[in-house]
Amino acid sequence: MTPSYQQPTARGYYGEFGGAFIPEMLYPNVEELRTRYLEIMADPDFQIELQQLLRDYVGRPTPLFEATRLSEKYGTRIFLKREDLCHTGAHKINNTVGQILLAQRLGKTRIIAETGAGQHGVATATVCALMGLPCVVYMGATDIERQAPNVARMRLLGAEVRRVTSGSQTLKDATNEAIRDWIANPVDTHYIIGSVVGPHPYPDLVARLQAVISEEMRKQLLEKTGSELPDFVVACVGGGSNAAGAFYHFLDEPSVRLIAVEAAGHGIHSGHSAATSVLGTPGIIHGSRTLLMQDEHGQITEPYSLSAGLDYPGIGPLHAYLGAVGRSEFLSITDDEALAAVSELSRLEGIIPALETAHALAALGQLGAGPDDVVVVNLSGRGDKDLDTYLKNMDKLV
Ligand SMILES: *Cc1c(COP(=O)(O)O)cnc(C)c1O
Repeated sequence: MTPSYQQPTARGYYGEFGGAFIPEMLYPNVEELRTRYLEIMADPDFQIELQQLLRDYVGRPTPLFEATRLSEKYGTRIFLKREDLCHTGAHKINNTVGQILLAQRLGKTRIIAETGAGQHGVATATVCALMGLPCVVYMGATDIERQAPNVARMRLLGAEVRRVTSGSQTLKDATNEAIRDWIANPVDTHYIIGSVVGPHPYPDLVARLQAVISEEMRKQLLEKTGSELPDFVVACVGGGSNAAGAFYHFLDEPSVRLIAVEAAGHGIHSGHSAATSVLGTPGIIHGSRTLLMQDEHGQITEPYSLSAGLDYPGIGPLHAYLGAVGRSEFLSITDDEALAAVSELSRLEGIIPALETAHALAALGQLGAGPDDVVVVNLSGRGDKDLDTYLKNMDKLV
């Protein structure tokens, strides 16, 4: 039997990527999580509570919608997996609902998180309100300016948003501060990481919690097309959690082509990009060995994308591995191409996507998919949070 792509080794490796490169002070926290997460998640009571919340609170299963006007335009059969219809407007809540249940079973009474665009912060603040747990969200000062509505949402939900003014004052700096907090509060605090990044077991934990996306897709495709397997699954990649969830139950089905779409910003080689699979080299970021954008001295290069959810300088180790062994294919999309895809989906299907998601949609023209092919695009989130950006770029939208 060929080995499964789904699971890392016991130490969290996907090929040469992954692992847990953490300061000594963080070891007890990470070790507690590592030794307990699988056992807790396998517990029937945990599963019952998780399934109930996913159904009644998050709104799952999300629909698989056949986009006929979009299909006509691209000459192939396109389905949209509607994660934009999840509570709080994106896939992020699939992960936070699972992690808060895990935190409770670990006896934790305080939650911390990092956020970039604010979607993960909102999803974390939401589940903390639901469970009555105090919540601190670290967010870069730059992102606080760019994402005012999400900052307001987090505060309304009762979370404390802590402003991070170190470094570039964006996501990677917020992550560093959250890690510092966790080191200082090892006993009572659980750190909810928002993507398939960080030290083992986070990449595997988050991938398992997002895998519900592809689990549902298989059933829905069988109903709508007569086969559980599509020809293509397309998803955008920031850290890679929505892509990991959309790919998960197809990883060991070699006939399904898995397309990961990164943000090229102003263009891959413009110096203003977040296309890690092309520009990245192996290194360690936030406790994990993966591909990351760095200079010859190992200093992290500032990533850029108009979309605050995609400008992370690394990708999850699973994606670094899938790309390296040829199981997934990476494409990249510029800001302008993504903006054009926003108006295209809005006008052809009456769905305004998030700017991150628009990167996946903009890749449709590059797939080479034919009339008999079935393509699933993971519609990771809705565009409400990006309306300000869309208004400022109206000339590129029409
Ligand atoms: C956060 C976010 C992303 C990027 O994160 P991944 O972990 O790569 O999924 C993509 N789309 C939306 C709507 C997001 O909120």
